[in-house]
Amino acid sequence: MAKQFTVQDFFSRFGTDDACLDRLMKVRYGERIVCPKCSKEGRFVRIKGIPAYGCPTPRCGHHIHPMAGTPFTRSHMPLQKWFYAMYLFTTSRHGVSAKELQRQLGVTYKTAWRIAHEIRKYMAEVDGSPPMGGHVEIDETLIGGENRGAGKGNWRKGKAAVFGMIEREGVLHTRVVPNSRQTTLEPIVREMVAEGSTISTDEAPAYAGLADGYEHGAVNHSKDEWRRGKHHTNTIENFWSVLKRSIRFAHISVSAKHLPKYLGEFEYRHNMRKHPEKMLGRLLLSFAS
Ligand SMILES: [Zn+2]
Repeated sequence: MAKQFTVQDFFSRFGTDDACLDRLMKVRYGERIVCPKCSKEGRFVRIKGIPAYGCPTPRCGHHIHPMAGTPFTRSHMPLQKWFYAMYLFTTSRHGVSAKELQRQLGVTYKTAWRIAHEIRKYMAEVDGSPPMGGHVEIDETLIGGENRGAGKGNWRKGKAAVFGMIEREGVLHTRVVPNSRQTTLEPIVREMVAEGSTISTDEAPAYAGLADGYEHGAVNHSKDEWRRGKHHTNTIENFWSVLKRSIRFAHISVSAKHLPKYLGEFEYRHNMRKHPEKMLGRLLLSFAS
């Protein structure tokens, strides 16, 4: 089991703004720094009263501001609250709504909403996409929009098609796609999944070409077939249901414009789930770039 990063752990490590700033400095610049001004290497020292660190060389006077270029500087919210918000985002299984954040941080709804979007944006950016392999389940689904039932052929109105690939016991990758045609989906599979891997899908015609280059197996959901030997798509379908429930529960409605950010958030959490204690550090690192 993954090591838990509890609320107590959080507050013992990040109990003050100063502790958070130290952490940010260390993540962004490391323990020892070659001073860009005097070129000497050393441990920069925190300067009292301002969120900066100074070169230890006498009379050099160079300062480093670890918050520079991050969203932390552009807000009046204390750094520790940012850290706590990031902690909540990286540890909650279902994501965090702006309303929840407002309550937990004691800020206005508007501030909470902005912070949530800022963090989500970075979670989406951080997520790398190494080539996937082993046994990969692939599926597509529709998310968002108004759920008013079928009728007049506009049941897809406002919904976005999302394509997902998940390694069993491994990495997840999602992306919003314009449609579910073979010409759209197959190139993404070939870009993302190493040749020779095993792929499980449903019977959708978009996957008909995957036998070329992959060990492809399909289950026929329309005929009530859910498993054929080792092939099934339960892992990706579980992910869809968690995602949809969370979006419904926490975010009320997600516009197509913001959907990639939400997907990025869920993807990040899934891919880092075995290293919860590393999530915050990785996220901080992303603020630096
Ligand atoms: Zn210096």
